[in-house]
Amino acid sequence: MNLAQFLAILYVISLIVSVAVGIKKKIAGEGIIAGLLLGPIGMIYILLKKPRAKCSYCGGLIEKGAIKCKHCGADLKEMPAGKNA
Ligand SMILES: [Zn+2]
Repeated sequence: MNLAQFLAILYVISLIVSVAVGIKKKIAGEGIIAGLLLGPIGMIYILLKKPRAKCSYCGGLIEKGAIKCKHCGADLKEMPAGKNA
């Protein structure tokens, strides 16, 4: 295996992992973009990124598990999980 083949395989693996982790963290779009543009660096970026959730009151992106929306200040403790408004 030469260096080009190694890099190609590394790039493909990074892309797959970025997309898979992105889907799991509900940031699939970011996962695809990061994997395509940055390869292994994008994969690390996605792996380190915290899962995101959407505030059901204002629609702003918040960190998963947050009890208060940082955008509108809504109380999110009782928010039903998996709801996609
Ligand atoms: Zn909000």
